[in-house]
Amino acid sequence: MALEVKTFNFPTFMGVNSYLVSDSETGEAALIDCGRGYKKITEYAAEHGLKIGKILLTHGHFDHIMEVGKWKGSAAVYIHENDHEMMLRGGAPDGFFLGSHTVSASADVLLKGGEKIKVGDLSFEVIHTPGHSPGSVSYLTDGAIFTGDTLFKGSFGRYDFPLGSKSELSESLKKLFALPGAENITVYPGHDEATELKYESLYNPGNYCLDD
Ligand SMILES: [Zn+2]
Repeated sequence: MALEVKTFNFPTFMGVNSYLVSDSETGEAALIDCGRGYKKITEYAAEHGLKIGKILLTHGHFDHIMEVGKWKGSAAVYIHENDHEMMLRGGAPDGFFLGSHTVSASADVLLKGGEKIKVGDLSFEVIHTPGHSPGSVSYLTDGAIFTGDTLFKGSFGRYDFPLGSKSELSESLKKLFALPGAENITVYPGHDEATELKYESLYNPGNYCLDD
C-alpha cells in the first residue's frame, strides 16, 4: 500500500483545494472536500483506474461542500456531526453566506473524532479540530494530514465567522503541532500550498498570536 495524493485547485473558487487520496495498490480512493471539479475529478479517476468510494469533508463551509449532491449516492459522505446542519443549509453558518445557492445533501456518516476510516489499506484518523467551525476535522494518515481551514502554510483559518471560536482554534492548532512524528508529516490545507508540519509547529503564528 502506498498513499497517492492528487491535488485539485480551483483558483476562481476561493482557491479551494480538493485532494484525491488513493491506495496505489488497490485503486481505492477518497476525495477530501468537494467544492468544485466533479467532472475533472471523475475523469481523472477513470483514467487512473481509481474508485472514489468516500467523500471526507473537513468542514461544512460552502466552498468545501458545494458539489456534495453530485457525489451523493456513488460515494459515502463523511462530516463531523457539529457541521452537518450547516451542510444541510448549503454551507452557510447561521445565515452567513446567504445568497450562495449551493447544492446540499445529507451525510452518510456523522463523525465525532477518533474514528479510523479505511481507504483501501490506508487508514485515516479523524482528529476533531474545532475553531474555524465547530465541526472542523483533520484527517491524519501515514505521512500526511489534511487540515481543511484549520491550519495553512504560515497561517491559520478564520475564527470570526458565526460559530467560530478563537480559543478552540488555538487549542486545535496546538493539538496538531504536538502530533508525534511531525517531522515526517506533510500538511495539505484547504487553501494554498502544502507545507511541513514540523516547520509549522516551530514557526506558524498560531503558536502564539491566538492566546489572550
Ligand atoms: Zn471554511
